[in-house]
Amino acid sequence: MRLNIGVIKGDGIGPEIVTEAMKVLDKVADAFGHECAYTQLLMGGASIDVNGVPLTDETIELAKKSDAVLMGSIGGDAKTSPWYKLEPSKRPEAGLLRLRKSLNLFANLRPAVLYDELKGACPLKEEITTGGFDMMIMRELTGGLYFGERSTKEVDGITYATDTLTYNEEEIRRIAKRAFDIAMKRRKKVTSVDKANVLDSSRLWRKVTEEVAKEYPEVALEHMLVDNCAMQLVKDPRQFDVILTENMFGDILSDEASMVTGSIGMLASASLNETKFGLYEPSGGSAPDIAGKGIANPIATILSAAMMLRYSFDLDAEADAIEHAVSEVLKAGYRTGDIMSEGKKQVGTSEMGDLICGYIK
Ligand code: NAD
Repeated sequence: MRLNIGVIKGDGIGPEIVTEAMKVLDKVADAFGHECAYTQLLMGGASIDVNGVPLTDETIELAKKSDAVLMGSIGGDAKTSPWYKLEPSKRPEAGLLRLRKSLNLFANLRPAVLYDELKGACPLKEEITTGGFDMMIMRELTGGLYFGERSTKEVDGITYATDTLTYNEEEIRRIAKRAFDIAMKRRKKVTSVDKANVLDSSRLWRKVTEEVAKEYPEVALEHMLVDNCAMQLVKDPRQFDVILTENMFGDILSDEASMVTGSIGMLASASLNETKFGLYEPSGGSAPDIAGKGIANPIATILSAAMMLRYSFDLDAEADAIEHAVSEVLKAGYRTGDIMSEGKKQVGTSEMGDLICGYIK
């Protein structure tokens, strides 16, 4: 299979970590008889330096022509970088927001996986996490409270601020379908999180999710109130497979879930639209403090590349091979600085990429 992949190396540690993910993708392609065709795209600070803007129309068109886009991270140090002297719409992050909008990426997918080898980094008690956990948070990204009408006004000398939370049934249906599709590739359970005891938007969320569930008889659907979910994530994270939720609840729950896994350098992510297309990137930023030193952890980006194989190309065995290789390297005791602990062997960015390639057969 020929995989047409757009690549945004980005800023800071972006080029270092994306280079390792490409190395791993090439190794997998070799082992499984595929061919990766990369198109390099400029976005963020790297695009400002060349084009004067963080994202050009031409780059958007090239991204749309790709089957999927793999991205490092963008942005620099807000205090020292000249990019942050520009007006907000010309800064690196504006490019990412525009790209997400242009590609209609309405579903954000963040896995929270606790590897047994890294359980020391987990702040939860050992009896809660024995055996590790592996969940996927599916967050609606383009609707809800963050995109509703808002206003601040004064009435009779008192200031009122209003935000509105609106969803229509189509917005809910399309993300619910993506969540059930993903559950079909996993342990076949969806926990839909809402506040249906209070909010109308949540009651519609629940109704539409139940309708979609009928199309997926193999997947078990449960509903959970958001306050209970926040507690269950730290009480018994092993119960979750796919968590499906709206924008604001997902914003909070996905950060909570990632904190219980340990390092930011391990956290992959994907943003999807209605097609097979996706934008795959590590959850962390461009880490200007360690850029160019060859010490960044490339695993989040490598695991994002595995997600790309699984969800944009339906190459499950190839994605499994990458995830298995990451696990083996951790088991063998290799660590980058951010996940280093006593008695382990510290390696740099490129050596970590080589080690992971070594376990792909
Ligand atoms: P950050 O995630 O870049 O860094 C926070 C801390 O985590 C730093 O100490 C950094 O060294 C460490 N870290 C992050 N990724 C790592 C990795 N792979 N390996 C080892 N250590 C790692 O967050 P920040 O410092 O708040 O932001 C820096 C820049 O990144 C800003 O310009 C911000 O806007 C941008 N940013 C971009 C994205 C994105 O591209 N999607 C996301 C978040 C932040």
